[in-house]
Amino acid sequence: MPVSRRDFLLRAGALLGASALPGATVLPRLRSSRRSARVLVVGAGPAGLAAAWELTLGGHDVRVFEARARPGGRTYTLREPFSGGLYAEAGAMNLLSTNPGLEYAREFGLDLVPLRFDASVGTVDFLRGRRIVHRPGAPGTLPGDLAVDEREMSVSQLQTKYYRAPVAALEGLGRLNDPDYPRDDAREWDATSMRDYWRGLGASPDAIEFMSRRYFPAYGRSLDEANLLQIAREMASFTQVTGGFRVAGGNDRITRTRFWEAHGLDGGAVTDTAVGSILHETTDQRAEGGILGSMTYGDRADALAALPPEGRVEWLRQVVGQALPGPATFDGAGASVAWGQEEWSLGGHVSWRPGTLVDSLRAIRRPHGRIHFAGDTVGGIPGYSNAAFASGRSVAEAIAALA
Ligand SMILES: Cc1cc2nc3c(=O)[nH]c(=O)nc-3n(C[C@H](O)[C@H](O)[C@H](O)COP(=O)(O)OP(=O)(O)OC[C@H]3O[C@@H](n4cnc5c(N)ncnc54)[C@H](O)[C@@H]3O)c2cc1C
Repeated sequence: MPVSRRDFLLRAGALLGASALPGATVLPRLRSSRRSARVLVVGAGPAGLAAAWELTLGGHDVRVFEARARPGGRTYTLREPFSGGLYAEAGAMNLLSTNPGLEYAREFGLDLVPLRFDASVGTVDFLRGRRIVHRPGAPGTLPGDLAVDEREMSVSQLQTKYYRAPVAALEGLGRLNDPDYPRDDAREWDATSMRDYWRGLGASPDAIEFMSRRYFPAYGRSLDEANLLQIAREMASFTQVTGGFRVAGGNDRITRTRFWEAHGLDGGAVTDTAVGSILHETTDQRAEGGILGSMTYGDRADALAALPPEGRVEWLRQVVGQALPGPATFDGAGASVAWGQEEWSLGGHVSWRPGTLVDSLRAIRRPHGRIHFAGDTVGGIPGYSNAAFASGRSVAEAIAALA
């Protein structure tokens, strides 16, 4: 299985061994403060959401503004158009053991699946029109004009070999998380291209050419644009990593929370706005995030029904943002049904005006010739399906008795 750039770094970091360089520190959680601040967070990517979450737990009044119609930013799980419950990570793939995002995943009750690399399977390099298969204990031979010790290596092994030196040397340049990092003495590395550095280490031109095919587009258009300091820093940060994880069901589940639960609330609210009462629709589902809805009647329902569907969702979104404590993040998806506009319903249920119930109900409860009426309107409580089921059964009995 070809590995991603991140998978590669994960493996390479483990191969390079532990280093004194801290890749990530264990961050303290925000303490609750005595004074509550109003905070607007712009952007619902991992950074914005982490800030919003911590501030919220710290007792502050937080609102998150997101330009896209979904939270997560570059943490983005693709579920469509795959079937069978499969999904793919289009953004953040592996959450390294040093990633504070793992704490959030655990906090939100998400399952973390450790990444496993199967050392018993082979890898393939396809170079200069040739497929070279490397199996454990049976390395293939790379084409081209390579140094003797380079020939029986895979491209990823070549990279590990030539990364070792910069990572070890980087230790002399200070600690990655020091406040004054990068110091002035890092400038020389900053000015060095990866090609020049590998040349200086004695890598053969063909070995450099092969290594440049692997991941280097992520660091610039060519090895000449790839900055030694950036790459060495990234590699060094991996020496702290003991493994990687993915969130079962998709990494973006970390960014989709039932934000009301952080405040010990049920997600519902009674409002005097047009959307009426807010309801949490997914109390029975343990999916990522949840769905908040509303049910509204009468003039307010007419006002909402007059809007285009996206306008109705937007209205609810705004009211939720005001009525419930944040940080509230919303997905683009939203749906509405205006029952009053549904041709075969013309409303949600019947309301009897004063003075109309007795006569109307008597009229529709009576058979009219061979026609019997059933439905919630006929039963005791319009608007509840128990009346519908019950009246259907009564009508069946009445008809059966005639047979
Ligand atoms: C292909 C790919 C693979 C990756 N692989 C990994 C990996 O394996 N592991 C890992 O840990 N990380 C990985 N990452 C990186 C990870 O996705 C990012 O580090 C992380 O998402 C950055 O979070 P952020 O909040 O800083 O920015 P973003 O995730 O970009 O979030 C910024 C948010 O701000 C919003 N925004 C921007 N401008 C405005 C505005 N004017 N008003 C309102 N909202 C605005 C954006 O819409 C976005 O939602 C990968 C990224 C990519 C693209």
